[in-house]
This record gives sequence, structure tokens and C-alpha cells, in this order.
Amino acid sequence: MKSLIAGNWKMNGLSAAAGEVQALINKFSGATPEDRDILICPPATLVASFAASYSDEGVMIGGQDCHTNEAGAHTGDISAAMLADAGAAFVIVGHSERRADHGEGDALVKAKAEAALAAGLTPIICVGETKEEREAGKALDVVGSQLDGSLPQTQDEIVIAYEPVWAIGTGLTPTIADIAEVHDFIRGKTRDDIRILYGGSVKPGNAQEILAVKNVNGALVGGASLKAEDFYGIISAAPANV
Ligand code: PEP
Repeated sequence: MKSLIAGNWKMNGLSAAAGEVQALINKFSGATPEDRDILICPPATLVASFAASYSDEGVMIGGQDCHTNEAGAHTGDISAAMLADAGAAFVIVGHSERRADHGEGDALVKAKAEAALAAGLTPIICVGETKEEREAGKALDVVGSQLDGSLPQTQDEIVIAYEPVWAIGTGLTPTIADIAEVHDFIRGKTRDDIRILYGGSVKPGNAQEILAVKNVNGALVGGASLKAEDFYGIISAAPANV
């Protein structure tokens, strides 16, 4: 499997941010590595233009969320079919910010993952425990139950992202042993050919150590994906085969 380094831009980026993607490609002297998959999930407003400009340059584009339905009366939402039509190849579902800010639960996340697959997108299904849950020794129970509830029936083309909620945007990361424990646990519940990403304060300075852990098949990167230099550093630290 190739490692997958995915950037989640969240609600950041106006059209001028295209310059950061171009700067990233330029850092590879125009030829992005073919032995690693690079993905950027910009805000929905930028998906079509980024996909048109960069999908053929070795940077795949994804959405950050999708509705469960293909179309209909859902003001403000975007369907997986619309993302695919705009040129997206992936979509993040069940990010902890959606789970917390929009009250999304496992059944909804599963339905979104199924909608993504039906539209030809690869869902990146996010799971992860809160600080309180980790301190109570419940991290594996929480992740296990989120996986049981959130994974779609068909798992041919999915990605799982383990993102401890307390590590997102905080600069904190679990120990390498804790990352290994959770990734081994997830692997035990999924097929060998499904990529399992780690997410939560991945930076150029810690990427190599994290990405070398067994069953860590890439990273989902928030803040550090916004700057070409940082994202380049993380991509460069990723092993080619995982
Ligand atoms: C994320 O939001 O998915 C994330 C991992 O953010 P950060 O890298 O900023 O912690």
C-alpha cells in the first residue's frame, strides 16, 4: 500500500490559497512522488477549481463532509455526488468537529460513508477518543464502538483515520506506544488492505516517528497542511510503502 498524506483545511482558504497548493507542487520540482498519495480537502468552495488544476499534478482533492442523500431539500449541505462531480476523489466523514459541532453520531457517519461509496468517493472515516475517555482507560472501547457503528457494510474502498480528539489542534500527541496500540487494535478489526491514518498535531518534526509505526499508513493533517512548507515536510517524511 502507498501511504496517504491527507490535508484537512477545515474552514480555511479563499481562492488565493491555490498558491499554497502550487507552492507544494513546486517544492517537488513539479513532479510529486508517485509512491505516496497526496490529498488536500479544502473548503467545498474550492473543490472544483482545485480538482481541475491539481488532480493531474499528483494532488488529489477531497471534501470534508457530505450529506447522506444524493440530492434534495437540505439547505447548505453538499452531496457526495456533487463532490464527485466537482472532481473530488475522497471525502472525510465523522470528523470529531462534525461529531461535536453538529451532533453527528455513528449511524449518521456510517450512512455518509455509504453515500460516499455510492458516489464513487473513498470515505475517510474518523474515530477517536476524548481526553476524559483516554484518562478513564476507555480509548480502545470508544474507538471500537465508533468503528462498529460507523464503518459501512462494503469496505472495499475506505480509509480509517484515528484522531484522538484531545490531540487535534492542540500540539499534543499520544505516545508512540499509544498510537501503536490503537492502530494495532483497529487493524485487528479491519482488513489488511485498508489504510489507517493517524491524525492529531502531526508536524514536520514528529511525522517521521509517527509514520514509521506499524499499521500507521499515513496521516490526516489539519493545521500543518495549510502551509506548503510544513505539508511538504510531512509528505517527505512518509515511507513509500506501508
Ligand atoms: C484534523 O483536524 O483532522 C487534525 C488532525 O488537525 P491538526 O493536525 O491541526 O491537529
